[in-house]
Amino acid sequence: MTKPIGKVVILGGGTAGWMTAALLAKVLVAPERPLAIELVESEDIGIIGVGEATIPPIQQVNAVLGIDEAEFLRETKATIKLGIRFENWGALGDAYYHTFGAAGRNLAFCPFHHIWTRARQLAIKGSYWDFDLNYLCAKAGRFAPTTGNDPIWDMPYAYHFDSALYGQFLRRYSEKRGVLRRQGMVRDVERDAETGDVIALLMDDGRRIVGDLFIDCSGSRGVLIQQHLNTGYEDWGHWLPCDRAMAVPSQRFAETLPFTRAIAHGAGWQWQIPLQHRNGNGLVYSSRHYSDEDAARVLLANLDSPALDDPRIIRFRTGRSRRQWNRNVVAIGLSSGFLEPLESTSIYLIQSAITRLIHLFPHRGNTAPLIAEYNRQSQVEMELIRDFIILHYHANQRDDSAFWRDLRHMEVPERLARKIALFAANGTLMQDQHDIFMEPSWVQVLMGQGILPADYHPLANGPSEAELRQQLAGLAQLKARPLAQLPTHDEYLQRQLSKSA
Ligand SMILES: Cc1cc2nc3c(=O)[nH]c(=O)nc-3n(C[C@H](O)[C@H](O)[C@H](O)COP(=O)(O)OP(=O)(O)OC[C@H]3O[C@@H](n4cnc5c(N)ncnc54)[C@H](O)[C@@H]3O)c2cc1C
Repeated sequence: MTKPIGKVVILGGGTAGWMTAALLAKVLVAPERPLAIELVESEDIGIIGVGEATIPPIQQVNAVLGIDEAEFLRETKATIKLGIRFENWGALGDAYYHTFGAAGRNLAFCPFHHIWTRARQLAIKGSYWDFDLNYLCAKAGRFAPTTGNDPIWDMPYAYHFDSALYGQFLRRYSEKRGVLRRQGMVRDVERDAETGDVIALLMDDGRRIVGDLFIDCSGSRGVLIQQHLNTGYEDWGHWLPCDRAMAVPSQRFAETLPFTRAIAHGAGWQWQIPLQHRNGNGLVYSSRHYSDEDAARVLLANLDSPALDDPRIIRFRTGRSRRQWNRNVVAIGLSSGFLEPLESTSIYLIQSAITRLIHLFPHRGNTAPLIAEYNRQSQVEMELIRDFIILHYHANQRDDSAFWRDLRHMEVPERLARKIALFAANGTLMQDQHDIFMEPSWVQVLMGQGILPADYHPLANGPSEAELRQQLAGLAQLKARPLAQLPTHDEYLQRQLSKSA
């Protein structure tokens, strides 16, 4: 591809399509850098309509777009998310949180979990999470952004939002900034006979939509990247056997939880996502272990509020497109691959793909090195998240079903096996480049799933035992200090919503 890019065509108007449109329009388009952006979507096909829990980098999207939080909360019926509560994962009856926060206070070269491991070995009482403000607030149902000058009180947070409302919100934003929306069904594609590049989308009413760069946001169909370019798909089902989800909305609770729940069952797990006007619920399951009737029974029996609709089934295939960028087509969103929503990473992957595209945008064409770098980063990033998700399944002590036993005994990717072994030996974690999950996330999930380090770094031996007891007691108090001043999550939402009304 050597032609300068004057026009981008986005196929798909789900979260991926409208996020791409909004960010490209905001960042790349300027009077001195004209770039036409057109988005094509089919109302007959519609959107997947799930994807409602996010992770903190979503704040950067709002910041770049200049979106005010109060408006965002009102328009998307969003709530605050401080982390995820995992129930029945390590062992039946267990629960732990993977919060967005960091526990305790690190020493130079000695992360807090080493200090805590020493304390555990000395039988000093107290959970690792007692030192995590996100956890304390999630448990107490309290929230307001913390603005302490000490990073010890940082409380990273994300949102749960209504995915259909989010798409509409970004559509209004994009159209105001010049993005042209075309409604209709893409029936075929016209390609350059010499280069194989896509030249135009051919609509079923005869329209021909030409472009220089095409972004495939057509969802799991992968209309351009798979159906027309036959890029190929790498299947990860042998590590992550769940291949279906059943989703159902239910009535909201009187009190809105500031966290997602992920509850493991016999052959899958259930999500509960609290929104302002309803709860989003669903069961992710393996169709080899649960029939759809089993799944419906498990899901409906475990709803905490009355269902508002019939459950609907969504089929998926875990894995990734062999290339996310092929010729002049970049796949973003479900067309680029799928990882189950256990750690709410798909919307983040969309954000990251767009950010990467902006960095590597082929303004003047001639893109081979850009494409190679884009594909390299996309692959590493997705594999690292895949490994993190596998960890939740693999590190289990459940004996109640073949599903969990098989996952415990399976061979995991080599990089993950190394990570687990190193942490189990002496609590060491090495940060991988492009891993969105930092040390505190890995520590929480490893320990939450029952992998406790056998040893700790000798730097944690600084204080005497008596000093350590005193320091930890003081630290727990210090961490919890903001709690009493914070409003409840519902009070915070009301405060924000009344601001924007
Ligand atoms: C069960 C489940 C739960 C999930 N939960 C989460 C979560 O909690 N957090 C998270 O981050 N992610 C989650 N995800 C992922 C998330 O839903 C998606 O990443 C996100 O919605 C983006 O989807 P999309 O825009 O790629 O595809 P879609 O929403 O499917 O949009 C595809 C678009 O392409 C259009 N289209 C397709 N073919 C054509 C055609 N031929 N002509 C014209 N238009 C066409 C459609 O009309 C539509 O507009 C979940 C996914 C599943 C399956």
